[in-house]
Amino acid sequence: MVKILATDGLHKDGITLLHEAGYTVDVEKVEADQMPKVLPDYDVVIVRSATEIRKALIDQCPNLKIIARAGVGLSNIDVEYAREKGITVMDTPAASSKSVAELVFAHMFSISRNLHLAHRQMQQRGSSEFKEMKEACSNGLQLNSRTLGIVGFGRIGREVARIGVGLGMKVMPVDLVVDEADIGINVYNSGNVRLSVRLDTYEWEEVLANSDYLTIHVPFKGGKAIIGAEEIAQMKDGAVLINTARGGAIDEDALLDALNSGKLSGAGLDVYENEPTPRQELMEHPKVSCSPHIGASTLEARANIGLELADKILAFFGDDK
Ligand code: NAD
Repeated sequence: MVKILATDGLHKDGITLLHEAGYTVDVEKVEADQMPKVLPDYDVVIVRSATEIRKALIDQCPNLKIIARAGVGLSNIDVEYAREKGITVMDTPAASSKSVAELVFAHMFSISRNLHLAHRQMQQRGSSEFKEMKEACSNGLQLNSRTLGIVGFGRIGREVARIGVGLGMKVMPVDLVVDEADIGINVYNSGNVRLSVRLDTYEWEEVLANSDYLTIHVPFKGGKAIIGAEEIAQMKDGAVLINTARGGAIDEDALLDALNSGKLSGAGLDVYENEPTPRQELMEHPKVSCSPHIGASTLEARANIGLELADKILAFFGDDK
């Protein structure tokens, strides 16, 4: 009997698949200090980014066969060490790309049309100072015909490019490895036609200098920020930065300086250096549209993640149909 602990939750569709195969799935939050007592009983642990699985814990779980990350990014797991011990480490890299890409545009629209400000202020001033609010929130910008820089032209970067092309933006991706990619767009209302759209990547300096909106989609693992003061200095005046990748991929000190000086006109943030206690200055900054690390948290992405993980776990134990 395979025993699975899903300590940060798992979508019911994935649980159903595992139950149908006769596996035990315990979905309960186990605090870090309790993990050494609880986890040795299990064959599989499923975590999101909130739970760390480090060497010391791995050493205490000789029966553990799979560490599964529901989502993308394995920075909370000592992957190499686990693999040396014969444990399979798996994640679901493709399941949430569309979900993250749509959140990028939610932030871009929000910043461009002052929706973040309107929402904060309409609650207090909407009924009494409607005209003033209208004035303050006007002069928005359209995304159409603006330049969208995409740092990292992988799964999420390509989804972002698809939406950007659809909105009539000039899309400029940059990537360490990828030179070009076909981002193929499905047009459902003309008989499911797939348009082939081939995009080249650009040089880093060109992307920095031309982007009205710059969004980051690289697997940042800490260390020097991808976008710091030096990179911001090379950007267009009034550009907007979006970070849905990982906290620290944009240097938050440099970002605040650039927002305060007017060098940047806005930022859309889903991830922060100090999660789960992001800087208050950023949260309440009038030029920041923020969300609490929900990039992969649509119902669709959660269902995809649950199903993809369940399939992989079943395949591992030889129970895939
Ligand atoms: P991916 O591996 O498909 O693509 C990443 C691309 O970035 C690759 O093509 C790689 O060559 C490129 N790259 C790496 N370093 C680079 C650099 N310094 N400069 C330019 N290009 C570089 O990854 P993905 O599925 O698109 O995901 C990207 C990141 O998004 C993940 O690593 C994760 O941190 C983040 N993410 C966030 C959420 C969220 O909830 N906000 C959800 C899912 C993923």
